[in-house]
Amino acid sequence: MKITRGYKTELDLNNKQRTACLQHAGAARFAYNWALARKQEAYKKGEKVPTALDLHRELNKLKKTELSWMYDVSKCAPQEALRHVDKAYDNFFRRLKLKKQGKYKGKLGFPQFKKKSKGIGSFRFTTGAIKVFPNVIQLPRLGRLRLKEHDYLPVNAHILSVTVSEQAGRWFVSVQVEEEQQEPVNNNTSAIGVDLGIHTLATCSDKVEFSNPRALKKKLKKLKRLQRAHSRKQKGSKNREKSRKRLAVLHARIANIRKDALHKFTTHLCKNHTHIGIEDLHVAGMLKNHHLAQAIADSGFGEIRRQLTYKAVKFGTRLVVIDRFYPSSKTCSVCGYVLEKLDLKVRVWTCPNCGTVHYRDDNASKSILAVSLTDSLNARGADSSGSLATMSETSRVEAGTKQHLGMS
Ligand SMILES: [Zn+2]
Repeated sequence: MKITRGYKTELDLNNKQRTACLQHAGAARFAYNWALARKQEAYKKGEKVPTALDLHRELNKLKKTELSWMYDVSKCAPQEALRHVDKAYDNFFRRLKLKKQGKYKGKLGFPQFKKKSKGIGSFRFTTGAIKVFPNVIQLPRLGRLRLKEHDYLPVNAHILSVTVSEQAGRWFVSVQVEEEQQEPVNNNTSAIGVDLGIHTLATCSDKVEFSNPRALKKKLKKLKRLQRAHSRKQKGSKNREKSRKRLAVLHARIANIRKDALHKFTTHLCKNHTHIGIEDLHVAGMLKNHHLAQAIADSGFGEIRRQLTYKAVKFGTRLVVIDRFYPSSKTCSVCGYVLEKLDLKVRVWTCPNCGTVHYRDDNASKSILAVSLTDSLNARGADSSGSLATMSETSRVEAGTKQHLGMS
């Protein structure tokens, strides 16, 4: 099975290289904004909106006159940026269409101009002299850049693209490669149900709990202090710039702590089980509830789902996402009795039918496991009979997985 995989690692740049990277990112940002403006202008005048290819020709003409500085950077940087604008347009109109059909519930945003104050950004190469060595990567115009982690990037792989990006003063390179993946062999026998929560990140039906690092919460005090200090600095001053950098570093740190915890959790689940049952949480809807929003964004439910989907394929684990309206907390995992009501505050309850004492999250994870096992049986039954059954959750997840692999 051919898959597309991304490898991202930090660059170890010297001053000259850092300047060159800044120039490339600047050229990419300029080209993006220029292309977006050109498209909007054409649209307002009622002309045909130019494509990336049209704009590429136009930009090449301008390079000979007023944009001669662009010769200092690889032609790839602006060229890829033009393609990104096309992509952003496509995405916007695709979602607009879905929204009109009522199939898309998320936010709809027209492509925005890129601001330097929002981040240095990134630039991408798809062609040219790209070569990976154990401790350096060679890129067009930039030459050989040292890598902080040695022997991580695949040396002789088929490279599809390379993206260089900046975050909080650190530079990263991400290499997309196409590689052959062996059909995964999953020798595990255990099935597991997972209840995602805010108090604990996840409670599993085998009694394992994953505590939430709540990275944001712990660092919140520090973050608030930094934000207050930042707001007091005079706009445009050197001190404001310094405090902006400090804030960016803290934000990046928080994101990294969260990412680390989520990766450990999702890898553990997929590596050690043959079947995972999980709830389909309506993340966008829950984020609308302001009391829950921060805690949920902090736990990263959407990211958990994304990681589980691709890691399940990697380890050959079956992932079953159960209906979001299934009352997992209220269903007794022993006898199947469904309570009429269970307050969020109630952590322990006794089943009125069979008398079992349930811990809320533990019981929920067991109910999820039970229903996910019957769901997957149904799905497989439908597959073997060859009938065109309605799209079950299992097949939906599989479809989503394919899409994911194709995209990243
Ligand atoms: Zn019961």
